[in-house]
Amino acid sequence: MSIFGRTVVGLADSAPITRLITGTAAGRALAHRFVAGDTLDQAIAAAKALNREGLLVSLDLLGEEVTEPAAVEAAMAGYEACLSRIAQDRVAGNISIKLTQLGLAFDKSLAAAGLDRLARLASAHDLTVTIDMEGSRFTDATVTLYENAQRFHHNLGVALQAYLFRSPDDVRRLAPLGGHIRLCKGAYMEPPDVAYTARHDVDAAFARLLELLMPDPLVRPAIATHDERLIELTRQLGKRRQGAFEFQMLYGIRPALQKQLVAAGHKVRVYVPYGSAWYPYLVRRLAERPANLGFFMRALLSR
Ligand SMILES: Cc1cc2nc3c(=O)[nH]c(=O)nc-3n(C[C@H](O)[C@H](O)[C@H](O)COP(=O)(O)OP(=O)(O)OC[C@H]3O[C@@H](n4cnc5c(N)ncnc54)[C@H](O)[C@@H]3O)c2cc1C
Repeated sequence: MSIFGRTVVGLADSAPITRLITGTAAGRALAHRFVAGDTLDQAIAAAKALNREGLLVSLDLLGEEVTEPAAVEAAMAGYEACLSRIAQDRVAGNISIKLTQLGLAFDKSLAAAGLDRLARLASAHDLTVTIDMEGSRFTDATVTLYENAQRFHHNLGVALQAYLFRSPDDVRRLAPLGGHIRLCKGAYMEPPDVAYTARHDVDAAFARLLELLMPDPLVRPAIATHDERLIELTRQLGKRRQGAFEFQMLYGIRPALQKQLVAAGHKVRVYVPYGSAWYPYLVRRLAERPANLGFFMRALLSR
């Protein structure tokens, strides 16, 4: 993460900044550039609109690092409702989940049980589930829980972060399980002993992982980036695997590029977050791009 990104993440932890963003119309307007809405109905409407443009979706009920079983149960109920609506409304999509939303931060077995329940329900609807990758203190447990559940259910995928030094080993370990692997740069603030911190090192690591993933016949690669140079490299490496891989992008980011790739015949999935717990997600989007903060400041000052 850049120095700018680290500064944003550091400031965002403070109560006055949290209040300034979550408690103002300017903050909510900024959030709505990246979040489909507070409710499942709004998320389904956004998903259907994207489907009409030829885009697949992955619905993400926002929430992370929950600390009590009641919050896990609420997230589970939310995801179960989401899976049922995807099936009922024939949305072309799946769900993305965070294991800390299922309790990983305080009870690993609770998170494993939640993952099992969601994989089962998804399977009953012929749907898939992608596990987001969170901060590095959760990587080991996330990889292990994915491994155990995917061996049994065969309808899961997991995100791997190019900035982590360990990711090439994780690709080799997880590829034989045959799930989808979402390759992304990585959005968390990580120390230099576990992750590349310079942008060009992260991009080079991403390119090396692409070379590992794209030709592997066991993996269904999901290449999650808005970086045109890496998209072009993916297109080159994917020439012999048309239809076997997909691009993934975030809701509200580079929509024209999303449609351009669809028009060129590629599978493109948009990650669609929804729900009221949008603050940490928004902070990561702000940390990625100084221009987003400018939009917020202008909206705040124009009130
Ligand atoms: C579908 C999807 C799923 C993801 N899942 C995870 C995950 O599970 N774990 C994880 O750690 N990270 C995840 N990420 C985030 C990812 O790690 C990066 O932080 C994020 O995608 C920005 O990197 P980039 O590859 O787009 O490249 P960048 O070099 O950051 O951006 C390339 C270009 O994309 C545009 N862009 C990028 N970010 C923004 C933004 N915030 N606002 C406006 N424009 C922007 C800009 O035009 C920029 O020049 C996911 C990303 C995607 C697309």
